[in-house]
Amino acid sequence: HTKENGGNRLEIYTPALSSKRVERFNMESGLRYALERGELALNFQPQVSLSTGKVHGAETLLRWNTPDGKTIQPGEFIPLAEETSLIIPIGQWVLEQACLECRRWIRAGMPSLVISVNISALQFQQENFPELVRKVLRDTGIEPFNLCLEITEHTAVQNMEHSISMLGELVEIGVKIAIDDFGIGQSSLLLLKKLPVHIVKLDPSFILNMIEDSDDDAIAKAIIEMSHSLGLSVTAEGVETEGQLHRLQQLQCDRIQGFFTGRPMTSDQFIAYFLEISSWMS
Ligand code: C2E
Ligand code: MG
Ligand code: MG
Ligand code: MG
Repeated sequence: HTKENGGNRLEIYTPALSSKRVERFNMESGLRYALERGELALNFQPQVSLSTGKVHGAETLLRWNTPDGKTIQPGEFIPLAEETSLIIPIGQWVLEQACLECRRWIRAGMPSLVISVNISALQFQQENFPELVRKVLRDTGIEPFNLCLEITEHTAVQNMEHSISMLGELVEIGVKIAIDDFGIGQSSLLLLKKLPVHIVKLDPSFILNMIEDSDDDAIAKAIIEMSHSLGLSVTAEGVETEGQLHRLQQLQCDRIQGFFTGRPMTSDQFIAYFLEISSWMS
C-alpha cells in the first residue's frame, strides 16, 4: 500500500496520530472539570475475613461518570490524572469522601470497619501527604485504625529511601499500610523486610489460575507464608470462585476481595451487604 500512496507515509500516519491526540486532549479537558461538576463517584468492594467470615472493610474504587452517560474505569483515566497532576486534587477528594463514608458506616453500627484508599505515586511523593492524612482524620472524626492506605509495590520501589521515611510517618499516625499488586514487581522480599507495612495484597494474576496452575498456587502459598513469617497479613485480590476461596482458606490467607464475595458497590449497598452478612452470622 506504500506504493499506492506514493510512499508518502505522513499522509498515512497523521490522521491516526492526531485522532489519538484529540481523544487524549478531550479526556484531559473533561477530567479537569470532572471534580467540580460532580462526575466522580466512589464504589466500595467488600474485604472479607477468611477465619471469621465477617466483613473486614472495603476498598474505595474511583469511577468517572461522564456527561454523555458513560462510566470510565480508573485504568483509563488514572494514568492521565497522574501525568497532568490532576491526581493531587482528585486523590484528596477520594480520601476525604472515603473517610466521610466510613464515618457513616461507623455510625450505622460498624465501628471497626477499615476503609482502604488507593494512593498514587504522585500523591505519595508529596512531602505534606502525612499532614493531609492527619487533617482528613481530624475533619471526619474516624480513628486512624479505620483507615488503610494502599501503595502499589511499583510505587514503593521507585525511591526506597523516600518510601521508608514516608511510610514511617504514616505508620506513626496509626493508619494501616497495604502493599498493593504484590508479587508482580522485582524486589519483593527485600521490600517487605525494609518497609513498615501491615498488609500484603496478593496480585490477582496468581489467584486467577491457582487451581489449574500449580506454579501460581506455589507462588501464592510462598507469599502468604513469607508474609506471615514477617508478621504481615495477606489479602488476596480477584477471588472469583468458591474453589479459590477454599484453597486460600487452606493456605491460611487472612482476607479475600473479589467478585465471589462482592463486586464494587455504592456506599448504601455496602451497608446493606454488611447487615445481610451479619445476620447470617448470628
Ligand atoms: P486495585 O487497587 O488493584 O483495585 C482492584 C481492581 O480489581 C479494581 O478494578 C476491582 O474492580 C478489580 N477487581 C476486584 N475483584 C475482582 C475480581 O474478582 N475479578 C476481576 N477480574 N477484577 C476484580 P478497578 O476499580 O477498575 O481499579 C483499577 C485500578 O485503578 C486499581 O487497582 C487502582 O490501582 C486504581 N484506582 C482505583 N481507584 C483509585 C483511586 O481512587 N486512586 C488511585 N490513585 N487509583 C485508583
Ligand atoms: Mg488497591
Ligand atoms: Mg490490587
Ligand atoms: Mg491494580
